[in-house]
Amino acid sequence: MTTSSDQIRNNTSVKRLTILGSTGSIGCSTLDLVERAPEMFEIEALVGNTNIDALARQARSVQAKLVVTANPDAYGALKEAMAGTDIEVAAGPEAVVEAARRPVDMVMASIVGAAGLAPTIAAVQQGTAIGLANKECLVSAGDVFTEAARQSGARILPVDSEHSAVFQVLDPAHASHVSRIILTASGGPFRTFTLAQINAATPEQALKHPNWSMGQKITIDSASMMNKGLELIEAFHLFNVSIEQLDVLVHPQSIIHSLVEYRDGSTLAQLGMPDMRTPIAYALAWPQRIPAPVKQLRLEDIGQLSFERVDDERFPAVRLSLDALARGGTATAILNAANEVAVARFLNNALSFPGITNLVRETLERADRDGMLGRMVSLDDVWAADSYARRVAAEIADAPRLQAS
Ligand code: NAD
Ligand code: MG
Repeated sequence: MTTSSDQIRNNTSVKRLTILGSTGSIGCSTLDLVERAPEMFEIEALVGNTNIDALARQARSVQAKLVVTANPDAYGALKEAMAGTDIEVAAGPEAVVEAARRPVDMVMASIVGAAGLAPTIAAVQQGTAIGLANKECLVSAGDVFTEAARQSGARILPVDSEHSAVFQVLDPAHASHVSRIILTASGGPFRTFTLAQINAATPEQALKHPNWSMGQKITIDSASMMNKGLELIEAFHLFNVSIEQLDVLVHPQSIIHSLVEYRDGSTLAQLGMPDMRTPIAYALAWPQRIPAPVKQLRLEDIGQLSFERVDDERFPAVRLSLDALARGGTATAILNAANEVAVARFLNNALSFPGITNLVRETLERADRDGMLGRMVSLDDVWAADSYARRVAAEIADAPRLQAS
């Protein structure tokens, strides 16, 4: 029997997309590519949160079939903004999940944080191909997420630039010949800061990323290098390698997006200007390539590429993430949720910059003492670990000791 989603998949001329988090940095870059190639893409649904004006403007512009805000209180405002169109309007977390379930060729998962997990996994369970920007899904749900994809046959196309790079140079036929996967890291705005300077860093300083323009949360994660920790966990689940085969190299120019080393001494890398529209275009068009309005790389203009090791003393989040990955089970869900709490507090000036990683570490330690670092076999285990970690991280952060640190 041919299902409607099979018919859609078999229609090679036009790709139908749903974009989760369309008003964010990745969402806007995705729509930029879509609007440049209207003959190639159609938009089924757009999902956003609080920025109703932008969401409504996008929905009109690409003639989406459905537009959804995660905020139930914003239904009236969105409905009003869509007046005079026949675009369906919905609101609330369940409506977001329903939107993600609609049959399409690809769901771009670009909500930030574990908030993206429920709709993304709903799409995975439908067997829909996923453009995965929302790395927190994999950090949080790990094996549960990949097992759901295995069962439904949903293809996961990485959008994170490092993982797109690995995906582009990792020959699946020779996966067993890979000796190392090396993720590059820009080092963020504090790469050259002393420990004392990092300890005194403000949100304003942390939000000034040298190479990439991104949403606030990932920009703070890049400054603490928690982002690289999350990406190591993401790579572990995407590429089926051991923890020992994963490595990080700081590369301040952000030109080499990652490297795959083979056992015969060959190392393959993917290079390009730091512009997310390249990895997004690759995910959208895979296995084809479509034009992207990205400046071509001219190595003669770049001149030099440099590399250094991660300094674990100044950037302890990378090691902490690898330890959580090695611990397994619910540990990375707890790491992720505690980090989300910590970053939000840092942005509100309620936690110091080193307080972010300290809070994540202390939440993991408390989880260990509370017997919460257990097995993770179902989504219920993920939700339980996530809400436990948010509650405990808030408790620890509210204790006077950490506020002073
Ligand atoms: P952003 O903050 O710019 O955008 C986030 C989007 O998610 C917005 O559309 C927002 O409305 C939506 N959103 C937030 N909370 C929501 C909720 N509860 N329900 C539904 N929608 C919600 O973030 P971003 O920088 O675009 O990052 C998105 C994801 O992509 C993150 O997981 C990030 O780590 C990853 N990523 C981003 C970049 C980048 O260059 N920005 C690069 C690699 C990976
Ligand atoms: Mg990245």
